[in-house]
Amino acid sequence: MEYRGRFAPSPTGLLHFGSLVAAVGSWLRARQAGGRWLLRMEDIDPPREVPGSAAAILAALPAFGLVADEPVLLQSERRAAYDAAFARLREIDAVFPCWCSRSELAAAGPHRDGRCTSRPDPGREPAWRLRTPDIDVAFDDALQGPQRQNLREAAGDFVIRRVEGLYSYQLACVVDDAHQGITEVVRGSDLLDSTPRQIHLQRLLGLPTPRYLHLPLALDAQGRKLSKSSQAVPVDPADPLPALRRALEFLGQPPTAEAGDAPTLLASASRRFDPTRLPHRNGCFAG
Ligand code: GLU
Repeated sequence: MEYRGRFAPSPTGLLHFGSLVAAVGSWLRARQAGGRWLLRMEDIDPPREVPGSAAAILAALPAFGLVADEPVLLQSERRAAYDAAFARLREIDAVFPCWCSRSELAAAGPHRDGRCTSRPDPGREPAWRLRTPDIDVAFDDALQGPQRQNLREAAGDFVIRRVEGLYSYQLACVVDDAHQGITEVVRGSDLLDSTPRQIHLQRLLGLPTPRYLHLPLALDAQGRKLSKSSQAVPVDPADPLPALRRALEFLGQPPTAEAGDAPTLLASASRRFDPTRLPHRNGCFAG
């Protein structure tokens, strides 16, 4: 089967070092496997979106030599597919409506028993939660090794569709990984604990489960995850080589000889890419 990998940023800020690491890591895996590397813009959460950042991310990637092999998939245009998956989950009675307010949830703790005891409010749309079974979901991460999670304990009855009618990341990600035919998901290990929820959704929806490889996270000098939303310093597409070199170094790859431009540096890194050198642990990036 052809290898199909992807990079799936959320438009919550400019491309920063942590997301560059995920982009480069997934690109190297795809290139080494002689497969395809796809892009997906996860723009399904307008309240969290930073205006202009989707376009800025898509404009920055080619400067780093990261060019997708197929047109970019925009989650904002995938509503019908999420509606269909949600309809299927309702059909098999895998979800239930929840009218709890934030304060009710805070007081009662997360739902775990597949129902909501708050009184239905006909004047308001409910949120929809998955009836999470008391099962262990296990998978073998290509970098982090064997993983196992009790779904009910770890995730509870997690939200599939929010009160505003927006679909959750978990649902959209699963539907689109299948739609794009992704065979291996390479992403940051902040999403390691989402993977069992995604595998469970794949099983409910009859979708294939890709392989997973969770890369270590780039941390700031205080040990916090570099994230777009916490104003991490963006990487500069006008001067891509320094950040690209640091990303390759962060991924444990041997330094390559001076390269004239980013695409040349990346191409040479992909020829020498050694997955056994990928670090397992999160790393500090103080630059
Ligand atoms: N959109 C997510 C993020 O930017 C990544 C999702 C994924 O790779 O599954 O953190």
